[in-house]
Amino acid sequence: SSTIDKIAAGEVVERPSSVVKELVENAMDAGARAVTVEIKEGGCSFIRVTDNGGGIEKEQVRKAFFRHATSKIRTVEDLYQVKSLGFRGEALSSIAAVSMVELITKTRDELTGIHYRLEGEKEREFSEVGAPEGTTIIVRELFFNTPVRKKFLKSYATEGSYISDLMEHMALSRPEVAFQFMMNGQVRFHTSGNGDIREILYRIYGREIIKELIPFSAQAEGLQIEGFLGSPSVVRSNRNFEFFFVNGRYIKSPLLSKGLEAGYKAYLMQHKFPFALLHFTIDPDRIDVNVHPSKMEIRFHDQPGLYAFLEEKVREALRRREM
Ligand code: ADP
Ligand code: MG
Repeated sequence: SSTIDKIAAGEVVERPSSVVKELVENAMDAGARAVTVEIKEGGCSFIRVTDNGGGIEKEQVRKAFFRHATSKIRTVEDLYQVKSLGFRGEALSSIAAVSMVELITKTRDELTGIHYRLEGEKEREFSEVGAPEGTTIIVRELFFNTPVRKKFLKSYATEGSYISDLMEHMALSRPEVAFQFMMNGQVRFHTSGNGDIREILYRIYGREIIKELIPFSAQAEGLQIEGFLGSPSVVRSNRNFEFFFVNGRYIKSPLLSKGLEAGYKAYLMQHKFPFALLHFTIDPDRIDVNVHPSKMEIRFHDQPGLYAFLEEKVREALRRREM
């Protein structure tokens, strides 16, 4: 692949977790109800994502790896109104530029599937195989042809923990999808896909977190918030248990964190943080979204208003619970 392709690939594929994110999002976009992710050595040597989604048609397989090949014709504005997570058509081509990729896919209507294999964008195999409906993508030896990028990776343990966090957020954002996550041959967690967020929390974080969950629901113009607040007695020493999803995507937001924490103020000691899981459905006209492949930034138009609203509703919910 050309230098330009490799540089472009670096935009999308910063580290193993970005590969996993793109592949799992593709599985979601393909309507998968079950997704298995397996990694070895922090995803540096091996990533496999298997889904039971719609698969890729034979004559689309090669095309899916072209740059700017997307079957999801979307504008950036559309992204926040529709279900599709991908829209740039850059992920597969970028991943293929910096790794050894293998794909097995079959659609419902075709009798056989396709086994496709690339080494740094060079085609090594394209053959028919028997396969279940859906797609499996294996990514081996990430950055094998870009030693400089490889050098910037952290330890296997750290890269693995990024993927683990990502998988947890994915599972929490899609309770109706059954996820299985395996690391170095061991199942780290799996979810049933029955839609029950409590069950997912239990499977990932254990019993304490779900001991007392306070259902939370609030509406304002162009805004709907649904989810759970943790018991004020279950405090954490960092913000990793404040989960915010905006229009289906996990985000980190200092504004939302501070609004949430302000609502808990009567209960929280210094340097302590609550557990909360909140889904925000926001009218796309009220936010600006900068969707960079490797991260996402959201700007709410009325930041002080949103902060005050969240603080007030959280405080109310906690007070109601005491009555
Ligand atoms: P994007 O998601 O932005 O369209 P990608 O490079 O991630 O671009 O994928 C390119 C195309 O390959 C997608 O538009 C889709 O048609 C197809 N594709 C990728 N992964 C899958 C999958 N797991 N199941 C079905 N189709 C897929
Ligand atoms: Mg994609």
